[in-house]
Amino acid sequence: MNRFLTFLRHIHRIKIEVTNKCNAKCKFCAYPLMKRPRMVMSEPLYASALRQISKLGCDTLMMSPVVGDPLLDKNFPYRLQNAKNSPGIGEVRFFSNFIAISEFTDWELHLILNNSDTILASIAPNVNGQSKAARGGRFKSGHF
Ligand code: SF4
Repeated sequence: MNRFLTFLRHIHRIKIEVTNKCNAKCKFCAYPLMKRPRMVMSEPLYASALRQISKLGCDTLMMSPVVGDPLLDKNFPYRLQNAKNSPGIGEVRFFSNFIAISEFTDWELHLILNNSDTILASIAPNVNGQSKAARGGRFKSGHF
């Protein structure tokens, strides 16, 4: 029984939604229909969540929202760094459409790359020279 309870207490993955804002409008996504206010998590709330996760321990911290893009959080590189430096947290991962990547400084890009174990990219615009028409308008930037 104790082993079962220990197994239940072991957390494999936790997600933090640092922002629910997005700069794309993928046709398959519920983002345009979302009724929640579009916002970025406050620093005190993030710090509190990180402290609690660190205390609980988890194998993987996913820094990806349900809908939204984490790179629209201007503090994202520093939040990744804080997560990676937190004891009890294994891997730190996120996925992004990377539209906003040019908004970050070289130092912030360094922080993003060096504090992420896995980065998943969903890239659609102008891939392989495809025009917007060829893509069927599935992906448009600029929708906040
Ligand atoms: S980038 Fe992600 S969150 Fe944004 S519209 Fe596309 S699927 Fe949805």
